[in-house]
Amino acid sequence: MKIEKNIFYDLEYEELKAYLSNSFNLDEKKSSMRANQIWKFVYKKGLMQVGSFLNISNALKENLENKIDFDRIKISEEKKSVDGTIKWLLKLKDNNLVETVYIPFGKTGTLCISSQVGCTLNCKFCHTGTQMMVRNLDTNEIVQQLLIAKDRLTDWGSEKKIRNIVYMGMGEPFYNYSNVKKSINILNNNFGLDYSPGRITVSTAGVTPQILEAANEIKTCLALSLHAPNDEIREKIMPINKKYKIADLIASCSSYAKINNEKIFLEYVLLKNINDSESCAKELIKLMGKLPCKLNLIEFNVWPGVGYEPSNKDTVDKFFKIIKSSGHIVTLRKSKGEDILGACGQLKTESERKKRGLIN
Ligand code: SAH
Repeated sequence: MKIEKNIFYDLEYEELKAYLSNSFNLDEKKSSMRANQIWKFVYKKGLMQVGSFLNISNALKENLENKIDFDRIKISEEKKSVDGTIKWLLKLKDNNLVETVYIPFGKTGTLCISSQVGCTLNCKFCHTGTQMMVRNLDTNEIVQQLLIAKDRLTDWGSEKKIRNIVYMGMGEPFYNYSNVKKSINILNNNFGLDYSPGRITVSTAGVTPQILEAANEIKTCLALSLHAPNDEIREKIMPINKKYKIADLIASCSSYAKINNEKIFLEYVLLKNINDSESCAKELIKLMGKLPCKLNLIEFNVWPGVGYEPSNKDTVDKFFKIIKSSGHIVTLRKSKGEDILGACGQLKTESERKKRGLIN
């Protein structure tokens, strides 16, 4: 009979400690010491062969080998853009596919990770939205996206190449809240990967109740995909706005900012003749006055079959200047990785939900 193993990358530090303590009847001090050693081998050095763990007894090695799976998810495809952006297509154990993107800025960069296979949100301008929601990613599948990127970039030295992590890949992180939260706890732990909450940004399309929960629990930076200055426009391009209205959303983001003493990133994709007018910019300024925030204007990335166009350069400049002259912080994000469909909103895999007939 095949024994199902625990996957190491699903375990939080305290869970590993408890596992070691129960399996070997270790006291608090010894289980901490063992957990530290193993955690460092895996998350500081990037080792995945139990045989290469030093100063560990044979009995413990045997137990780990038999009970815990340290294997990495397989890379199905790696694509590199002319601008250095790298996109990995990962094949999960159940053959579903998910994407992870590394965006370099000089010698370091940002990793964009996915939280779901597919997405339920169906934002009209987003390529992932044309894919059916397949399933939530497990904690280990979220954590492993970082490990795989670190392997491929040989980023296991003391100076990190991957400086920042953004949950801006496929899916809505707040619809997979518990696994996302667990993965962040693993990324945060300073015996291992050591990404402080300030180096991690979770991006949401606006799941209002979850924002408040996250404010007290996960404490990372928060990005809100706003994309419109009023409910009327937002509802047309983002169906989630039918459920969660802008006023409540802004109020919950404002609480988040106060609890964590961090400005919220407002993301705003400029779509030609949809949300890029002067009056939209002015309405947006009013919203920005309601919370501590920075605005990130994003050039719209086209994808095959999309019904929107990017705003003209002049319109973008004008929009930018109106916001800037109001005294708010605003940046214009240039796209990276467009040639490999690795830019924001371009991610999509071939994974389809099975037994479609059974899904509502
Ligand atoms: N569901 C979360 C996480 C996805 S983040 C969220 O909505 O925030 C992906 C970001 O890229 C979001 O801000 C999304 O609105 C934006 N985006 C989607 N399609 C895009 C496109 N075609 N061009 C530029 N940005 C896009």
